[in-house]
Amino acid sequence: MLFDKFQEMAGFQANLADREVKPFGAVTEQILSATTGIVEGKEVILAGTNNYLGLSYDERCIAAAETALRRWGTGTTGSRLANGSFAEHEALEREIADFYGLNHAIVFSTGFSATMGMCATLAGPGDTILLDADSHASIYAGVNLSGANILRFKHNNPDDLAKRLRRLGDDTKRTLIIAEGIYSMYGDIAPLQEIAAVKREYGGYLFLDEAHSMGCLGASGRGAAQAAGVEDDIDFYAGTFSKSLGSIGGFCVSRHAELEAIRFCIRAYIFTASSSPSVIASTREALRIIRAEPERQDKLWSNAHRLYDGLKALGLPVGPAASPVIAVEMADHSATIDCWKALFDGGVYVNLVVPPASPSTNYLLRNSVSAAHTTEQIDTIIRAYAALVDAGLAKTEQAA
Ligand code: PMP
Repeated sequence: MLFDKFQEMAGFQANLADREVKPFGAVTEQILSATTGIVEGKEVILAGTNNYLGLSYDERCIAAAETALRRWGTGTTGSRLANGSFAEHEALEREIADFYGLNHAIVFSTGFSATMGMCATLAGPGDTILLDADSHASIYAGVNLSGANILRFKHNNPDDLAKRLRRLGDDTKRTLIIAEGIYSMYGDIAPLQEIAAVKREYGGYLFLDEAHSMGCLGASGRGAAQAAGVEDDIDFYAGTFSKSLGSIGGFCVSRHAELEAIRFCIRAYIFTASSSPSVIASTREALRIIRAEPERQDKLWSNAHRLYDGLKALGLPVGPAASPVIAVEMADHSATIDCWKALFDGGVYVNLVVPPASPSTNYLLRNSVSAAHTTEQIDTIIRAYAALVDAGLAKTEQAA
């Protein structure tokens, strides 16, 4: 039967319904601020939003979007190649390229289409793609469409990357290496100095997805490559507007003039409508704010350290270092759901992550920190986790 393969998912959903939890698709009925909302009838602290700099609810971004809405209307009703290239799109492309100190940029309608579209197009039959094994689903979706020879290197392992590049010999001239800045589920950061050194030694082109690191890392918020001091080694940056910039859309920025020709070969760019100008206008304003207010990044990291230290002090299994994304590993599927529900009932909304969204077979509670969280909110989140530990719901490292 066509639908047999969905039986397992249907069972999983029925189990959630029996337990009266709605971790996937919980409905936000009202947004009260960048960090609070009413979800499924309950006022909660939002601790799973990727709204790293708190800009989704910034008055200046809202005003920019309102003005653009009046000026340009609700949508472009067409692809960038047809009727959908408005002055706003071109301005954002110039501004995002300038933000990276580079000359070439493409703006996409979502972050997913940016990474998928670029990965599907940059390498093709006869080329090789070497990607980090824990790459995001959008990267996998793209490379699977590319027709290239696909190889994976072990997550965040430059030695494994070097070994595979060495085997490729002269073919590295036709090889695209793909990594991310901050990884989306565990919040760990790619060892970019080592990865860049390997690329320098063996060759290849380096594509870096800064979706979770733009705005969070680097002296001017460009991301993990800036923080690692290896920007000269990056051939293509991809990223999204849906996290630090608080809107929706994606981009690719490059030093290579060929990006202008590549633009016309990306199906996820050609055959889809361009973003609404109001979305582009709020993104432009958010980009301006990131440049003008670097202190937001400082607040983000002080919140990240506070939450990380608090969860670690409780003995919870968190990663090796503080990050704007902090994942807590759970014992099993059932405990994850119970903990998620207990946190929600305690007024804290986090992400529940199950395989395959989690890169391993692990179940996770994924927290994302915002510069807009107050110290009191961070402490409330820690207290909600402490209640899980006290109730024996969450495993601790001592107990594990
Ligand atoms: N790349 C990575 C690493 C991501 O985590 C995501 C989304 N979580 C995307 C790309 C896609 O971005 P968007 O959700 O803005 O489409």
